[in-house]
Amino acid sequence: MQSNSSLNITILGSGTSTGVPIIGCRCAVCSSQDPRDNRTRSSALVSYQGKNILIDAATDLRQQALRHQLRQIDAVLFTHTHADHVNGIDDLRVFNMISGSSIPIYATGEDLHALHRSFSYIFDQEQDEGYRPQLIPRLIEGPFRLFGLDIVPIPLTHGLGTATGYRIGPFAYLTDCNEIPESSLALLQGVETLVIDGLRHRPHSSHFSIAQAIRSTDGLNVKKRWLTHLSHDVFHARDESRLPPNCFFAYDGLNINL
Ligand SMILES: [Zn+2]
Ligand SMILES: [Zn+2]
Ligand SMILES: [Zn+2]
Repeated sequence: MQSNSSLNITILGSGTSTGVPIIGCRCAVCSSQDPRDNRTRSSALVSYQGKNILIDAATDLRQQALRHQLRQIDAVLFTHTHADHVNGIDDLRVFNMISGSSIPIYATGEDLHALHRSFSYIFDQEQDEGYRPQLIPRLIEGPFRLFGLDIVPIPLTHGLGTATGYRIGPFAYLTDCNEIPESSLALLQGVETLVIDGLRHRPHSSHFSIAQAIRSTDGLNVKKRWLTHLSHDVFHARDESRLPPNCFFAYDGLNINL
């Protein structure tokens, strides 16, 4: 969105897989009037020198794009293929229509396979082009360069599966994880701003709790940590004061400029 040489990150969505409010839930957070307690499915936009890189095509991509008047997506990085991170993929069609060009999508081999399985119509050359987004699969095999940026994939443990975090210079985005392997912590040395999964107060089998997210990244000595993929257990105004000084809850629309 910004076209200068700074790295600009927008948290498009900060919510867990159900979004917050959760359908049918009447808890205090789901009823909260604080816009920071209203969370669409997790996704982020990285803007650099006029290029927009989307991290995940979340279920709420359409709503997020409208909210931020997004007209341009130049590439997509997928963290993994759980439904909340990929179900907005069809809405990428609109960006093809505006630009008249295809969009490269980056994912691990396993995730590219899963995308082919779940969205076979997109990759079926016999289907009418108007009904499917024009996407170019790009296999992630290690660090790569994209639009002048060094992108470092960060392997993460996500329950029984894996997810891929991304380091881009001083910034790293690590959603959907309950453990950061030692070898991945090494890749994060020197990061200044971290966005990390911190689902809720209680432990969970495939997501960091807030305390676990903090403990696991204390050794990195980052300047700022933003917890994301938040559930309705997190009451922003009430709970933020309990976080360490360099730790905050992300919220939809949060803008980070580096
Ligand atoms: Zn998720
Ligand atoms: Zn609720
Ligand atoms: Zn997940």
